Amino acid sequence: MKPCELCELSEYTQHYCRYIHPFRFSILDCDSCDTPMAVLGEHRAAPTDFERQFMVEALSMVARFRYGEGRFVIDGIMRQIPDHCHLHARPLADWAR
Ligand SMILES: [Zn+2]
Ligand SMILES: [Zn+2]
Repeated sequence: MKPCELCELSEYTQHYCRYIHPFRFSILDCDSCDTPMAVLGEHRAAPTDFERQFMVEALSMVARFRYGEGRFVIDGIMRQIPDHCHLHARPLADWAR
């Protein structure tokens, strides 16, 4: 089995922040989508409600800076790495603006 990419949190993509407290997670640009994403600091699929809410808040702040208020959606679907919790902030398509 190859190592989990999200656990390695490769340093070559841009990082926005790295939380230590109240739990570990990072916000960085996704390598494949080139959008900001929040990645839980532990290898597990399901965040608690609190963790999810906290990550959505922090990710939204970064996404507002990058795309503008109301111009993005938080996408919790884990297509490529289904066993490690992460959330993408995706820009809305031009036609939706
Ligand atoms: Zn992992
Ligand atoms: Zn991605």
